[in-house]
Amino acid sequence: MTVIVAKELTTALAALREHADARLIQGGTDLMVEINFNHVKPTTMVSLRDIEELRTIRTVTSGIMTIGSGVPYSVLEGEPVLSAIPALAQASRTVGSPQIRATGSLGGNLGTCSPAGDTLPVMFALDAMIHLNTLDSSRVVSIHDFMTGVKRSVRQHDEIITAIDFPVVNGWQGYSKVGVRNAMVISVASACLVADHENANVRIALGSVGPTIIRCRESEAWLKSVHDLSAGQSISLDVASEFGRRAAAESSPIDDHRSTAEYRRHAISVLASRLLRKAYQ
Ligand SMILES: Cc1cc2nc3c(=O)[nH]c(=O)nc-3n(C[C@H](O)[C@H](O)[C@H](O)COP(=O)(O)OP(=O)(O)OC[C@H]3O[C@@H](n4cnc5c(N)ncnc54)[C@H](O)[C@@H]3O)c2cc1C
Repeated sequence: MTVIVAKELTTALAALREHADARLIQGGTDLMVEINFNHVKPTTMVSLRDIEELRTIRTVTSGIMTIGSGVPYSVLEGEPVLSAIPALAQASRTVGSPQIRATGSLGGNLGTCSPAGDTLPVMFALDAMIHLNTLDSSRVVSIHDFMTGVKRSVRQHDEIITAIDFPVVNGWQGYSKVGVRNAMVISVASACLVADHENANVRIALGSVGPTIIRCRESEAWLKSVHDLSAGQSISLDVASEFGRRAAAESSPIDDHRSTAEYRRHAISVLASRLLRKAYQ
């Protein structure tokens, strides 16, 4: 196997174009597992780890925080992300162990595109935008169009995910997950809720309960129709429970080795109603 350690983005992009079976590697926390189990056998690997521009966080004036695809979770857990996008910091803190968080990245979570990826519900709830580059072109794709199925996305072979744009929202946001134990666990069900006080709306996205992350647009619309969602309004237990029940109804879970569909639906109803209560305490 040949490993090309790129120092510049253009080197990595050129290598991708030249080698039809090349695989990108950032932290390697997903890809090395695949290789160890012989699920993939690339003859060329292109390492992105030394490309500085993929490891930067930029805040631009229009209320967008742009995070490089190679920034590790250990950085995303702290400032400036913690204050600007608290749900992303929370989701990052739940990923694997300190060793995994020291090297795993958003680019890898998007590259794998599992419905259990912890940062994906945050991207869906915040309407994040994904930057994709080739040697001679670039495009920006909404996360809603990026993920097309279980471990499937619109990314083409010669494209590198370079960064993710996260809108900075004025309001409360949170991420919660349920797993078979408290740490080092892939989620059985997860949810990210964003309460946008400025625009008086609530957005919720669910993980591990469908082939893609699910945005519960009907539950969001129902909530807006029954409650004033600006700041300072508390939510009754009845409204929160009904919101949880509706979010669970929009999920599409299956039975698998980690859990049952029935338990996942129950977990979603609890997560959604608790997150809503926290947002409007
Ligand atoms: C013990 C353990 C625990 C884990 N726990 C969790 C968990 O709790 N939650 C969770 O979500 N995940 C978990 N994971 C999975 C993994 O850590 C995450 O998905 C992580 O985000 C992968 O990032 P990475 O940089 O290591 O990706 P890599 O392994 O380097 O790459 C993963 C995939 O993405 C592609 N890729 C990487 N970077 C790019 C890019 N810039 N552009 C295009 N494609 C790219 C690669 O080609 C590969 O297909 C765990 C893994 C392990 C081994």
